Amino acid sequence: MYGLGILKGMWVTLTHFVDTFVDDLRWLGRRYYTPEGIAHRSSKDSRGIFTVQYPEEKLPVPEEFRYIPFLIYDIDENGEHQDRCTSCGICAKVCPPQCIWIVRTEDPETKRPVPEPVEFFIDIDICMNCGYCSEYCPFQAIRMDHDYELSSFDRHAEHIFNKERLSKPAAYYNEIRPVNFAIDEAERAEKAAKKAGN
Ligand code: SF4
Ligand code: SF4
Repeated sequence: MYGLGILKGMWVTLTHFVDTFVDDLRWLGRRYYTPEGIAHRSSKDSRGIFTVQYPEEKLPVPEEFRYIPFLIYDIDENGEHQDRCTSCGICAKVCPPQCIWIVRTEDPETKRPVPEPVEFFIDIDICMNCGYCSEYCPFQAIRMDHDYELSSFDRHAEHIFNKERLSKPAAYYNEIRPVNFAIDEAERAEKAAKKAGN
């Protein structure tokens, strides 16, 4: 019958519309953005339409989610920041779009290189979030961040992240990537033990 398809389509839309309220009532007082809620909404039992009220509400990202890299620093017993980065330059070499720029520190008297960067830049408009820098860094100094809210009205100066903007404490890394952090710490401990044994 002519128009039957339209009626069927409207019925499907109406079903989704009603199911949305039914599912909302079943979850009344509980939030969807918990691991349990997300598992439910991604399952075959999910009904209706699910909309995240971004930016007020955000879905949590999985641990392996990766966005712009960040540099990790440790805090020593005197409360001083200790860069893990030795400015070896490997990350800059392997970066496919070449968006990392490092300025090495040098001893003012001998002019010999000091293993820490005086400056470290990443052009976040060029970075393609591939994670190579993180994979190849031999010092567990650069890792991929979860922070994806980086838009601004200035796409030049604001999007060239300097060392200050890129640096975050190891505790932050542990917070966003606990499994990776534990693996890194084990590797660092092994390296330190080998070094102490030499
Ligand atoms: S972040 Fe890692 S790979 Fe890049 S310069 Fe620093 S130590 Fe080397
Ligand atoms: S994530 Fe990829 S593109 Fe971005 S800085 Fe690292 S190596 Fe370069």
